[in-house]
Formats: sequence, structure tokens, C-alpha cells
Amino acid sequence: MLDSIIQQGQKYTMNTYNRLPVAFTKGEGCYLTDTEEKEYLDMIGGLGACGLGHNHPIVTKAIQQQAEKYIHVSNIYWIKEQVELAKLLVENSFGDKAFFCNSGAEANEAAIKLARKYAYKKYGSQKNEIIAMTQSFHGRTLGTLAVTHNKKYQEGYGPIPEGFGFTKFNDIAGLKAAITENTCGIILEPIQGEGGVTPIDGGFLKEIKSLCQEKDILLIFDEVQCGIGRSGKLFAYESYGIEPDIMTLAKALGSGIPIGAVVAKGKVAEALQPGDHGTTFGGNPLSTSVALATMKFMVEEKLWEKAEEMGLYLHEKLQQFTKKYTWIKTVKGKGLMVGLELEIEGGSIVEKALKEGLLINCTAGKILRFLPPLIVEKQEIDKMVEILERIFSKL
Ligand SMILES: *Cc1c(COP(=O)(O)O)cnc(C)c1O
Repeated sequence: MLDSIIQQGQKYTMNTYNRLPVAFTKGEGCYLTDTEEKEYLDMIGGLGACGLGHNHPIVTKAIQQQAEKYIHVSNIYWIKEQVELAKLLVENSFGDKAFFCNSGAEANEAAIKLARKYAYKKYGSQKNEIIAMTQSFHGRTLGTLAVTHNKKYQEGYGPIPEGFGFTKFNDIAGLKAAITENTCGIILEPIQGEGGVTPIDGGFLKEIKSLCQEKDILLIFDEVQCGIGRSGKLFAYESYGIEPDIMTLAKALGSGIPIGAVVAKGKVAEALQPGDHGTTFGGNPLSTSVALATMKFMVEEKLWEKAEEMGLYLHEKLQQFTKKYTWIKTVKGKGLMVGLELEIEGGSIVEKALKEGLLINCTAGKILRFLPPLIVEKQEIDKMVEILERIFSKL
């Protein structure tokens, strides 16, 4: 069965991914089962999208119940589930209003448009530049490519939209030099994901915030990967004590059902008026009811506290590898967003792990990345560490 999926996949789907030779048929909690009935421990959880793991009863029930009622209506009507989700996000964050779309890139695209519109209405068309960070990743649309640092993602797609620049992550002097009177927004990931699982420095963030306030620049936090409980707080900005003006969410928000969100302060959100932005599927009854169930569960269970606790445990376990193997450098990240930085390329380790029944990922070439479901238990972390030890000891 697997051979035929791969063969036909190569024939009929665009070759946009370097896929590992496996296909799954079902999942439960932190485990996935493949076409040969082999079980895998999933410590990457759909690259962070499966915050509640696989086949979570809360999620399954929300999908079933909503599908039995209605799945979709247009945003030319009011949608109760969407309103309730917006309320829950607002009540649990710095924000006053939310807008819904279908992915992380779309959420960032909307955040960029919102920042520009806000400045346009207040100052006219000159103030339109957005500053992003080195090693950033914000998505694959043309607009979000403009704020994604790694040039390999942009190659061959030019011209890329103008009015975007980069400054070095965690470098205050560089940022001060990059800001001009035309800067309208700064976009950053509080914990960089694809760029290497790197948390932002608290002092740097504080400096950014005060520059933003001084110069009326909107601060945009891309919490697509680090938000929704993963960092050990519901939102990663909480652990820095610094609020953005705009925040974007996606990945774990819908437990695997596609949804993205932009949350903003009221005075910023006001910049968008009817007709200024929109999407067909964004905030539809199905995706918002699933996100609502996810968020309710997350808030009731304070699942971020579990992420914090399990994150510390995972951190400690991985720390032991850095002592034992000279080619393993450091453990990075926060909560259950964890990276293990190597001195060697990590791709072959990911392939070996797959053979051993463990799903992990490698980002930025040399950083093994772990994004387990937030419901992960110690015994699963122990099991992963055992498998890694077996692989590492043979290298
Ligand atoms: C995954 C990711 C995105 C892009 O999200 P998509 O849903 O793939 O468009 C944007 N920003 C960050 C930080 C991400 O991790």
C-alpha cells in the first residue's frame, strides 16, 4: 500500500515537499499508526498543529456536532461560533478584537495589511515599512515571504513586495539603526520556530516595545507556532510581560482543522472597515467551533502549565545528551517548543528515528526540533529519550 501511495503521489501531486517514506492511517494521543500497522511516537505533532494530540475526544465531538448542524455560511452573515471564539481569545489575551482566516501565512498577511492600514489612516501613505528579524519565518505567500529572512524561500518568486527590511535578532543597536520615520510595524516571533527554536531576549523585546511606543510603530507577534499553550503560557508574550498591538495565531488553534487568527488592540482593529479585508472560509462555523472547543479545554485545564512542567522535564533529559556527546551543543526553547542543537546535520537522525518508530523533525539544518502534543506524559518523553540514546550512541 505504501509503495503505491508514494508512486501515485509522485505522479499526481506537485513535488513541493521532501516527504519521509511513511503514510499514516490513524492516531491516538501521542501515537500514530502507519499503513503497515506500525506504531510511532509522535513528538512533532503535525509541526505543532496537533496541540491536543490525535483523535482527542473534545475535538472529534466538536467536529461531529458541528457537521450535523451546518459546516459553512458566508461572512455576510453573523456566525455564533466565530463570535464566541473571538470573545474567548479576547478575554484571555491583551487584545480587543479578532479576525479569522485559514492559516498562519494568511494571519500574518492580514496583520501586515492591518499595520499598514492603521498607519495609512493616521499618517498617510509614507509610513508603510515593516521590519522583520533575521532567521524569521512568517509563511509562504508573497507578502509573508517579504518578512521571511531565509532567501531560499524567495528565490525565483520576485519581485517580492517592497517596504520590508530585516534587523538582527536580539541586537538592539541594529534595530535602532533600522527604524526610520516610515516604519509602521515590527514583526517577530517571540520564540523563533523554523529559524532554530530561539527565544527572543527579554531585554531586546523591552527595548523594541519602548521604541514602538515612542514612534507609534505597531508591534506584531507571530505566535503561530509558539502560541496556544506551547511555550508554558497560553501566549508566549505573557512570559515576557510585554504586550504586542497585534498577534497572529494558527497551528494548534484548530487542533489540525485549518484556522488562523489575528488578535489586535481596539484602536488598531478599528483601522479595518467593511470591505477592507476578508476571506470565504475564514472563521466558518466548522473551524471556529473546533477552535472554540480546543481553547475552552486549554483554558479549563490550564494546559500550558502541563506544557511548562513537561517542557522542563524534556529539557533536563536532553541536557544530559549535551554532557555525554561532544557533538551535541545545547538545548534551546521554552515549554514544549524545544530544540537540540547539534554540530552535525540532523536530517539523517530524523530518518533513523522514523525507522525506530519516533517522529521528530530537524530545522535550520542542525537543530532537532520537538513539538510534542501538550498532553504528552513523562513516560512518552522517557521513551523518546531511550530511542534517541540508541541512535546517538551508534553515531
Ligand atoms: C508555520 C508558521 C507560519 C506559517 O503558517 P502556515 O499555516 O503554514 O501558513 C507562520 N509563522 C510561523 C512562526 C510558523 O511557525
